[in-house]
Amino acid sequence: MKRRNFIAAAGAATLLGACGQKTDCGSAAQGEKASQETIKWNMVTTWPPGFQGLGTGAEHLAELIGKLSNGRLQVKVYGAGELVPPLQVFDEVSSGSVQMGHGASYYWKGKLPAASFFSSVPFGLNAQEMNGWLLKGGGLELWQELYAPYNLIPMPVGNTDVQMAGWFNKEINSIEDLKGLKMRIPGLGGEVLRRAGGTPELIAGGEIFSALEMGRIDAAEFVGPYNDLAFGLYKAAKFYYYPGWHEPGTTLEAMINKEAFEALPKDLQDIVIAACLTANADMLAEYSEKNSQALKILVEEHGVEVKKLPQEVLDHLQQISEKLVEEQGQSNELSKRIYASYKAFKDKSDQWKEISHSL
Ligand code: CA
Repeated sequence: MKRRNFIAAAGAATLLGACGQKTDCGSAAQGEKASQETIKWNMVTTWPPGFQGLGTGAEHLAELIGKLSNGRLQVKVYGAGELVPPLQVFDEVSSGSVQMGHGASYYWKGKLPAASFFSSVPFGLNAQEMNGWLLKGGGLELWQELYAPYNLIPMPVGNTDVQMAGWFNKEINSIEDLKGLKMRIPGLGGEVLRRAGGTPELIAGGEIFSALEMGRIDAAEFVGPYNDLAFGLYKAAKFYYYPGWHEPGTTLEAMINKEAFEALPKDLQDIVIAACLTANADMLAEYSEKNSQALKILVEEHGVEVKKLPQEVLDHLQQISEKLVEEQGQSNELSKRIYASYKAFKDKSDQWKEISHSL
């Protein structure tokens, strides 16, 4: 790909222009010196070490950076808790104590309510649309603006595709069945459930199985067939409901410390961005292939009963979600611009989807 096309594809011209501030960064002498230098970075993640799809996606990104740079930039990946606790990834990369992080932006919604728009919001954009909005529709530039005060450069790096509504030990036949439902469902989806009369529970991924099996909760969402099969959740619940209304296409992120990025020679900056975009596409392809494979195993080998949430329930959840999502986009002037951009993209895309998904 020609560099100009690549920059356009990244929607990241502002990032790639950073070298322009250094007057000598294109000089032959410095280029030679830079090409001999080996730079070592650390990447902290919010995922258990080696976690399928997400953790391995972060490792793939690090490998790509190493390979594309011919070993000049080496990135060592740390799983959650190995270097820093998972929910400190944002602050650590922001402070510069590590150069890079991998996670999901909705983890930071306590600090930045509008951050959820860059991972997933209930009844929001799907994976394909997220890439469209972020890379071509102005989303990435807004994301950069949101993270800039924290000294961070965000990039989309992966997508789980649409998730499943979750594992239930109780059938959901009407809106009434949501009342009193104790369910592991974090983030905005959890708040929607609360407004629908349920009780959202915050339970770490690794503890979902026992909470469900012991009956401490009635239901739990995690990711989709690929990750849920690996966690053995089918052994702890009767029904596997779809669709994942709360996470229609969750984008994962890399965050890069701005000073560390700007200290790189220009070609390594380009390589970091190119590696992010490659890993972004690769993870979605992996989920697409593995989810379909895992669903077949769940149904055919483990006898899982797959059920669709009733339309009445989905309509009710959607009404609550739309109000909540709008609230998330009202906290300040930038949040309002993010919400407006997301909503405008979604409205246009919904019209197109009605036609394009009619096959
Ligand atoms: Ca989830």
